[in-house]
Amino acid sequence: MSIFIEKPPEKLIDEDGTRIDGRKPDEMRPVRIEVGILENADGSAYIEWGGNRILAAVYGPRELHPKHLAQPDKAVLRCRYNMAPFSTSTRKKPGPDRRSIELSKVIREALEPSLFLHEFPGTTIDVFVEVLRSDAGTRVAGTTAASVALADAGIPMRGLVSACTVGRVGDVLVLDVGHEEDQWGDADLALSMLVDYNEITLLQMDGTLTPQQLKQAIGMAMDACKKIHELQKQAIREKYLKIVREIAGETST
Ligand code: ADP
Repeated sequence: MSIFIEKPPEKLIDEDGTRIDGRKPDEMRPVRIEVGILENADGSAYIEWGGNRILAAVYGPRELHPKHLAQPDKAVLRCRYNMAPFSTSTRKKPGPDRRSIELSKVIREALEPSLFLHEFPGTTIDVFVEVLRSDAGTRVAGTTAASVALADAGIPMRGLVSACTVGRVGDVLVLDVGHEEDQWGDADLALSMLVDYNEITLLQMDGTLTPQQLKQAIGMAMDACKKIHELQKQAIREKYLKIVREIAGETST
């Protein structure tokens, strides 16, 4: 979608299926997740996904101000997606814009079905998604990190929300859309899901797909979400293993 590379590349994919960044059509970019890295938040996570670098921080459940926004029967989930001025190739004007307002809403809607908000009436849970470096797919990477940060904050949840994109370049469906594919490709689809329940929490699409391609693209994204889900769980396990190791180290001396 971005309009920041002036000339389209000669081709986005080779006859043998090699993409412009060297990946195969069904290949994801490397993903690394770290949990609990911000001391001052109730929960936090950092994700590296391709060239994306994103921090997610969670506060709450906590008192909601102004009070009239509070709901008597459940917590209010608030999300703020923000891109740092240095996160893009051309400096982005600081502060909210139409896109960041839309993505804040998209991320909130992707996460909401996973949470037991009725357990905390009258409160708010605040989620901050800070994009430090962007490389296409920040909404799915941000959603993935935010869900881990919510788990790290101990917010009761049905399960983790995992997310991924699939695009179309000509007749080929490509997993985890890269920057040039996002800009010059023919379609892209973002999917978030609760892997434990096989339940899609958000589906967005730009461009066009045939019904057959749509079905295939959703299948590819859901399979990728299962892999992301494993990485999310592993990252949470790592945090606690580290604590256990530290305690064990302390008691053995
Ligand atoms: P997503 O990041 O979820 O793919 P978009 O499709 O809107 O969302 O954006 C694709 C990519 O375009 C972003 O990841 C980012 O690298 C780039 N981009 C978006 N907005 C801007 C902007 N205002 N300035 C420069 N680059 C931008």
